[in-house]
Amino acid sequence: MLIDLRSDTVTRPTHEMREAMHSTTVGDDVFGEDPAINTLENLAANMFGMENALFCPSGTMTNQIAIKCHTQPGDEVICDELSHVYQYEGGGIAFNSGASVKLLQGDRGRITASLVNTGIQPDDVHRPVSRLVVLENTANRGGGSCYEWTDIQEIELLCRQKGLSLHLDGARLFNALVAKGQTPEDYGKTFDSISICLSKGLGAPVGSLLLGKKDFIKRARRFRKVLGGGMRQAGSLAAAGTYALQHHVSRLKKDHENARAIEKALLEKPFVKEVLPVETNIVIAETVEGFDLTGFIEKMKASGILFFAISSNRFRMVTHLDIDDNMMNKLSEVLKNID
Ligand SMILES: *Cc1c(COP(=O)(O)O)cnc(C)c1O
Repeated sequence: MLIDLRSDTVTRPTHEMREAMHSTTVGDDVFGEDPAINTLENLAANMFGMENALFCPSGTMTNQIAIKCHTQPGDEVICDELSHVYQYEGGGIAFNSGASVKLLQGDRGRITASLVNTGIQPDDVHRPVSRLVVLENTANRGGGSCYEWTDIQEIELLCRQKGLSLHLDGARLFNALVAKGQTPEDYGKTFDSISICLSKGLGAPVGSLLLGKKDFIKRARRFRKVLGGGMRQAGSLAAAGTYALQHHVSRLKKDHENARAIEKALLEKPFVKEVLPVETNIVIAETVEGFDLTGFIEKMKASGILFFAISSNRFRMVTHLDIDDNMMNKLSEVLKNID
């Protein structure tokens, strides 16, 4: 039994999801003729009360297209220093959009209106033009931390006052919605654009959605083609996404319970100095000084438990659809007997 806690991207489609993929009707999506993709885009847009949606191969692509649509070369994007759009998208903000980035030091990946305010450039020819704020919810490098709704509202208000666009990297937005009891409609009303991943906790094999106004998505569709992301008979992938949105959202609370159980087990180990507060499905732990983290990861691997170090003294474990009670029991047993 392999217990793969490296990421929630490792899930395999369930039998039911494969059935949904198998039985779908497909067409050429670049011609707008794939019924399964149209169904998925409409379903997602309706869920969020947004005008339109665009199915893309990855969350990197939906984020990068959004940034491209919101900015001109020389503009500046404001985000937390841990943001995926800055840390893990290959310098795409510069590469694709020719924009610069203002990094803010938030709290576990989350920023506030007053922080954003300090990051807005004055109207001065020497400066880049502040154009876009990107929030990430849940915040991946923040250990799956979630925003309070009031904090998001304050940031939205500031963006409206200052004429900035507001994009959400919601790769794990459904984890935040489930954890905080928030609704997709509230997010749809607040953000100019939203990216959600179907291939993380929701358990689809591939795909992300970009949501926004009709004109915005029309432009986004053009950039998707430019980036080589115009897929043809990709409806089977969309069918998996539709299945995930319909069947895999409420079960996310199970992943969150499992993550808290891991937190509890880790806190009992003398070599664990602290665990970032577990709010969703990501556990980030810090080890005490001098601890052999590489050796620990090797020993756990020998017992069939996989996870990554994210720095010399921090490691990350992520729960997901394919982690069941048996695995949780085995994990807790292995942890008990290791030091
Ligand atoms: C995974 C992830 C993405 C998108 O990643 P892809 O692998 O390109 O789909 C975007 N933002 C965050 C916070 C993520 O964790």
